[in-house]
Amino acid sequence: MLWFRRDLRLADNPALTAAAVDASGVVALFVLDGALGRPSGPNRLAFLYRALRDLDDRLDGRLVVRTGDPATVVPQVAGEAGAATVVCAGDFGPYGRERDDAVEAALGRDGRSLRRVGSPYAVAPGTVRRADGSPFRVFTPFYRAWAKAHRGTPDAAAADVPWAAVASEAIPADPATEAALPPATEAAAQARLAAFRQAGIDGYADRRDVPAADATSRLSVYLKFGLLHPRQALHGLGRGVDAERFRRELAWREFYADVIWHDPASARTSLQPRMRAMRSDDGSEAERRFHAWATGRTGYPIVDAGMRQLLAEGWMHNRVRMITASFLVKDLHLTWQRGARHFLHHLVDGDLASNNHGWQWVAGTGTDPAPFFRVFNPVTQGRTWDPDGDYIRRHVPELAGLGAGEIHEPWTRSTGPPNGYPPPLVDHKAEREEALRRYAEITDR
Ligand code: FAD
Repeated sequence: MLWFRRDLRLADNPALTAAAVDASGVVALFVLDGALGRPSGPNRLAFLYRALRDLDDRLDGRLVVRTGDPATVVPQVAGEAGAATVVCAGDFGPYGRERDDAVEAALGRDGRSLRRVGSPYAVAPGTVRRADGSPFRVFTPFYRAWAKAHRGTPDAAAADVPWAAVASEAIPADPATEAALPPATEAAAQARLAAFRQAGIDGYADRRDVPAADATSRLSVYLKFGLLHPRQALHGLGRGVDAERFRRELAWREFYADVIWHDPASARTSLQPRMRAMRSDDGSEAERRFHAWATGRTGYPIVDAGMRQLLAEGWMHNRVRMITASFLVKDLHLTWQRGARHFLHHLVDGDLASNNHGWQWVAGTGTDPAPFFRVFNPVTQGRTWDPDGDYIRRHVPELAGLGAGEIHEPWTRSTGPPNGYPPPLVDHKAEREEALRRYAEITDR
């Protein structure tokens, strides 16, 4: 029996290859687990259900979907299927590890076993270590070791798998979402990869930071749900500055998964203990500011463009994720955890390790951090990465009529910001100083 989780593909799926040797028939199970559904907003759930429908079609309608606690559901379906072994890809996140141990114990009570084959990563978290066996805490040395460890050869797809029938629930209807989501099929993931490799990767290193350029791969959602494996993205990538840069970005995903594997608590609390004492704001004014940030009405155009892209697409460009995250933590003095939860609710690629450690990197609380005292200036960031204002114009229609000279500081116009666009929520210079004061409180002790 095969238990699908974050690996919703048929090609290059080692767990599927291992399960397919059972000539008597393979039952394919997916468990709708409320514990994973709760932090997901409608974007991620809608994408998941669409991907499950695609998988079901390709399994001739034989995908078995059941709702409940995997520790109950998996042994139950294994019993119905008469399966001695349940095969799945390893899960390395804090919840997934505990869940799998519970499932393994429950299966064991019935004389069955859980076999973990492969992982959602090119190199399984916990594998790459420093010479003394300790984990890496800094990206670049991790990257050097990881680049030597990963083998970039995708497995062949299992052919003619004898999918077996067991009763299934219906795949739920998509929750309502306003966001325009990418197509949720393995074919779409492959097409996206092929298009990026053929035409998109040239100039990636130079243009990946420019949000208006649409110069990144947009593969994150496919990697998140395993419609694509990183091995497939890395295979045959070659050398050269663009390929090397892309390989490095894929490695960031692996690095954060490794960090969280070694330190599961860092998914929720700041990795650096001293940063846990940082003062943050609360109360009604803090709530008002959070709401302005979340709805893209801070008055800082690049911040608002990013937050509105998140609402419109369930995705945000990486550079703008950094700018908006910095603004929440260092200009509004709210906790990174608050922002991370908001992102995880909306992001279709929402991933605990990449998201929460991406936030910690910006907040200066995590591993290999941008120093806390390096505070992004939202106007300078806008001018540098969106010099003509094209990205802002795309997402903030109130500013569509402004030229490059005004669009980053619309409050400086003699008539103020146009079309009801708000004035700046806070004064960046003053809030930067306040952030540095708070930082000094915990570092000067
Ligand atoms: P590309 O530039 O094409 O990169 C290729 C792949 O490399 C990505 O698909 C992704 O798998 C990986 N990657 C790239 N940059 C990073 C990074 N900084 N950290 C980890 N992996 C990376 N990524 C997620 O997949 N899920 C998240 O929930 C998430 N939350 C983030 C939150 C914050 C505050 C920040 C700063 C970054 C976050 N990222 C997250 C990382 C990054 O923004 C996205 O992976 C990237 O924007 C996805 O677009 P792409 O596929 O076009 O990226």
